[in-house]
Amino acid sequence: MKKYQIGDNRFVVVKNTKDSPTVTIVENGTSKSIDFPFKRWVCLTRVFLPQVEEAVKQLEAGQEVKYQERIGGKVYVSVTSPYACIDLREFYWHPLLGERPTRRGIALRMHEFKRLVEVIPLINTQHPALEKTPLCIESAQHQTQESAMNCMECYPYQFEPG
Ligand SMILES: [Zn+2]
Repeated sequence: MKKYQIGDNRFVVVKNTKDSPTVTIVENGTSKSIDFPFKRWVCLTRVFLPQVEEAVKQLEAGQEVKYQERIGGKVYVSVTSPYACIDLREFYWHPLLGERPTRRGIALRMHEFKRLVEVIPLINTQHPALEKTPLCIESAQHQTQESAMNCMECYPYQFEPG
């Protein structure tokens, strides 16, 4: 396990275990945290990070921003003006209202997000397993269309009613 500080009481924790290698962003002493299985973390860092950085730039320039993307599973990243934060949060399916946010997640302050961006190359260098992790869409599950359609990472709401 390795810990990287990104704020006063906030850390990125990398657990490279055999069963479920996970990157967690956590606030010490509270229940605020969000887990990323490696394949979801690489999706955030390789695919969405440049978009989030762009949204943050627009936010800092005082523009109206309404950025939200599903990273993988039911976890979303969002930047919404005028709130000066980057929200990483798990959602759930409400039968009437559709996708709704849960309390599981963490809203990074701007300086914490910038620190996170700075430590990502270090995290990658220190965890070759992370660098070798393919994006979900490049993995064996996506070799055939049928198994791809069953992928809970990419189609997390497939068993939800409505
Ligand atoms: Zn997938």
